[in-house]
Amino acid sequence: MSSINTGIEWTDKTWNPTTGCDKVSPGCTHCYAEAITKRFTNNFPNGFTLTTHPERLKEPLRWKKPSRIFVNSMSDLFHKDVPFSFLQEVFNTIHQTPWHIYQILTKRHERLLELAPELNWSDNIWMGVSVESQNYVNRVDYLRKVPAKVRFLSCEPLLGSLKLDLTGIHWVIVGGESGHKHRPIEAEWVRDIQQQANKSDVAFFFKQWGGIHPKASGRLLDGEIWDEMPQDYDKHIQKWSNKTIPNLNRLKQAS
Ligand code: SF4
Repeated sequence: MSSINTGIEWTDKTWNPTTGCDKVSPGCTHCYAEAITKRFTNNFPNGFTLTTHPERLKEPLRWKKPSRIFVNSMSDLFHKDVPFSFLQEVFNTIHQTPWHIYQILTKRHERLLELAPELNWSDNIWMGVSVESQNYVNRVDYLRKVPAKVRFLSCEPLLGSLKLDLTGIHWVIVGGESGHKHRPIEAEWVRDIQQQANKSDVAFFFKQWGGIHPKASGRLLDGEIWDEMPQDYDKHIQKWSNKTIPNLNRLKQAS
């Protein structure tokens, strides 16, 4: 299960050069990645222990169709046990495949900022932090200092109302928690974040209300579907839609 086409509305596929993680904040309580490792034990012999997968590092070179790739749906790339040299290799692959957009999401904002000056921030990286409640809005201050072309917030599972400073942020995703033990989301919290994004001219994406039957509860907010993407996305599509993706053999030689 290194890469899959995903049901996540804001991405096209996932790429998991690492798997496994440790919980760091209340947003992790019902971690989807942990549940998957418990369910598919044959695919995850190390369980939820952080594991690097060097054999997956070059996978995106083989994916010719320009895609939005969610990096590490099964892990956190800035986990302390991911060696810096491995991170550099992940970033090198990203640099070699400019036809893809890479969406990297972390709750390790401190390590992100510490290592950011040493990494190669290609234009095709969208870097995000999770902000599930007001106690974690300081992650945004760290993200703001990272030189990614697109910076985004994932407020999912949203656990309370948020007052956000959206300076230097390009995209906000909001979603409610799903599953039997889901914690409830309130429409007023979502509406308020949408209004803050609107005031700051930041793209807003409402993923789902969540609950026990997320498909049934849907993703309408006040009768509308909110699926705005960062402005950079349209430019990326225009740039790559008519281009031939570089020949794989040439890329192999270059890598
Ligand atoms: S940081 Fe993400 S992958 Fe890691 S435990 Fe928390 S929710 Fe799960």
